[in-house]
Amino acid sequence: MSVPVPRLACDRCGQSFSHRVLYGLFDYELTDGTRLPLERRLAWCGACDNVVAAENLDPAGVLDERATVSRKLQDIKGISVLLPSRRRAATLYRKQLDELELRLAMLQRRQCGPRCLDCGSLETTMLPATPDLEEDGPHIPAGWKHPGCGGEMQAYLPSMRFIYNYRLRIYDAEGNFLRETDEED
Ligand SMILES: [Zn+2]
Ligand SMILES: [Zn+2]
Repeated sequence: MSVPVPRLACDRCGQSFSHRVLYGLFDYELTDGTRLPLERRLAWCGACDNVVAAENLDPAGVLDERATVSRKLQDIKGISVLLPSRRRAATLYRKQLDELELRLAMLQRRQCGPRCLDCGSLETTMLPATPDLEEDGPHIPAGWKHPGCGGEMQAYLPSMRFIYNYRLRIYDAEGNFLRETDEED
């Protein structure tokens, strides 16, 4: 996979950070071995003193997805479940709903706040969403200040592309790092 990756630079001290930390494969693993997707967002970690990927524990996205899949399942039931393709789709949607329910239950049981996925610290501050950027376009204020420095962060999208080999990182339901693996599912 080759993509241009947004960067953030401080207009006072010049230190810069990359969205690269968000890329990669991340899963939760429940105690029974079930794997669930780990949503993440850009955050400032006070322990790392760096821009990091932190867990996104906001259920809003999961709730939206559940509403969408439920609607699709209802639509199919309204037509005909006798067609094999419809039955297959219905089975798939039910499986997706089961997974979404597991994710919601996990978020509800969650004891602590979002962790830094790098060091595991809870000293995370979510950063505002990076504005839409044009490749090699102008620097745009990112809407937050460099902690400890006070400079304004500016977002930009260099045309340089990176190729990644992803390894899968696995965490428990409380966001503690368990292990890293080469497998991709
Ligand atoms: Zn700075
Ligand atoms: Zn950290």
